[in-house]
Amino acid sequence: MYTNLKHFINGEWVESTGNETEDVINPATEESIGQISLGTKEDLDKAVQAAKAALPTFSRTSREERIEMLEKIAKGYEKRKDELVQVMTDELGAPLKFSEEVHYEMGLAHFKKTAEALKDYKFEEDYGNYKIIKETIGVSGLITPWNFPTNQTSTKIASAIAAGSPMVLKPAELTPFAAMILAEIIDEAGVPKGAFNLVNGTGSTIGDGISSHPDIDFVSFTGSAGVGEKIMQNAAKTIKKVALELGGKSPLIVLDDADIEEAAKIAVSHISLNSGQVCTAATRIIIPESMKKDFGEAMKKAVPSFPVGDPLDKNVVTGPLVAKKQWDRVQSYIEKGIDEGATLLTGGTGKPDGLEKGYYVKPTIFTDVSNDMVIAQEEIFGPVTTVITYKDLDEALEIANDTVYGLAGYVVGEDQETLDYVAKNIRAGQIVVNDAEQDRSAPFGGFKQSGIGREWGAFGIEEYLEPKSVFGVKVPAKA
Ligand code: NDP
Repeated sequence: MYTNLKHFINGEWVESTGNETEDVINPATEESIGQISLGTKEDLDKAVQAAKAALPTFSRTSREERIEMLEKIAKGYEKRKDELVQVMTDELGAPLKFSEEVHYEMGLAHFKKTAEALKDYKFEEDYGNYKIIKETIGVSGLITPWNFPTNQTSTKIASAIAAGSPMVLKPAELTPFAAMILAEIIDEAGVPKGAFNLVNGTGSTIGDGISSHPDIDFVSFTGSAGVGEKIMQNAAKTIKKVALELGGKSPLIVLDDADIEEAAKIAVSHISLNSGQVCTAATRIIIPESMKKDFGEAMKKAVPSFPVGDPLDKNVVTGPLVAKKQWDRVQSYIEKGIDEGATLLTGGTGKPDGLEKGYYVKPTIFTDVSNDMVIAQEEIFGPVTTVITYKDLDEALEIANDTVYGLAGYVVGEDQETLDYVAKNIRAGQIVVNDAEQDRSAPFGGFKQSGIGREWGAFGIEEYLEPKSVFGVKVPAKA
């Protein structure tokens, strides 16, 4: 059991001032794996005051000290690899292999890549008769979701440390334990007391408290567009800066010279990895009309390459959804797709055969989808995808961009000029050509309603800084 009823405030684990607790459920077994305390506004305020008190010293730590902290955290993270991999399997339902190769790896990469970016980050620059100094924004509030428990916490924490910004983290209630291990690692790495605080609790109490707290200067949030909107509204009352990484309904354009089997496999991987609970997942597969029959067959054939089942089984690729609430939500979208008249190529409502316990969903593919259907416009966040056909490339791009979102875009094909043209004309924060590997130092974030701001690497650090223009001082900018 992972039970820990304390919050991490001002360098120590402290009792909650409230007495409400919550069970954390393993979505594969539907059983409790431990409890957390649901923090109160008083707990949050203690954490914010600790961060505020740490601001004058933490914001003046040197580049070298911050690099050392990040490197020590990375080492501590590596030492606790087995625990981190296991906890993300237990609280999220991530298959062990995916937990190790993706969840664990992403969390680690952020500490390492941010330390690297910090080495040459220019905090001061001369511009002739003035200089610009980039200073810590102040106290940061970090609100994270459950779908990538160490990726999303680590990128925010690493950037805040690099910028010298003391922080208060509220992890998702559904997946708090990976973040609590991270808190122990951060403590052991010698991050000064008050610079990192963690308060568990609900979005409506602690999340809302962070976005409205007068002593928090910046909120970095990842999660749903609806909550992002609430955070902006709340933050407006104290004119706080917000960075929002929200949802997506990303297109994957298959060009007419693409290898059909290869493209179909990529399309199915998007709804299989992390059970489709990925904000950048391609869930609108846009194919040439001429490919319709062959592509459908190739997708059906690809589905068994991503076996669904017990996350503890090393051969399993797709585990359960994180919670009953998400399972119900995904089921209702599958029903909606059927009602809207899309063709159910494979999958459908209910649980896969032999998986009655656990929040498992059948990998579901809809064809004959038009881009104005609800299933083509709303983020489903499960193993459900839609296939839409196009007549020519202009139409493919029109469909790709016909969404309120703009987080990611994908294209598969051969001709480099066309790939480049498509990459430039999809309006989204990251474009992946032919399933290319992604570097964790490249800026990550969205256009349109997919959010505001960027995370990862140097762009991530930038979010936690304020530029200050200085006129008249003759001391040259520091390197
Ligand atoms: P939420 O947006 O509700 O949760 C994300 C985080 O925000 C959690 O820590 C949550 O707390 C917190 N939160 C909730 N309400 C507030 C609030 N009023 N103020 C501040 N913080 C708040 O996502 P859900 O878990 O409800 O998932 C619903 C849908 O959101 C998914 O189906 C998916 O479409 C989308 N989503 C997108 C993600 C992405 O990566 N962009 C990640 C997760 C979800 P808590 O849950 O602990 O109460």
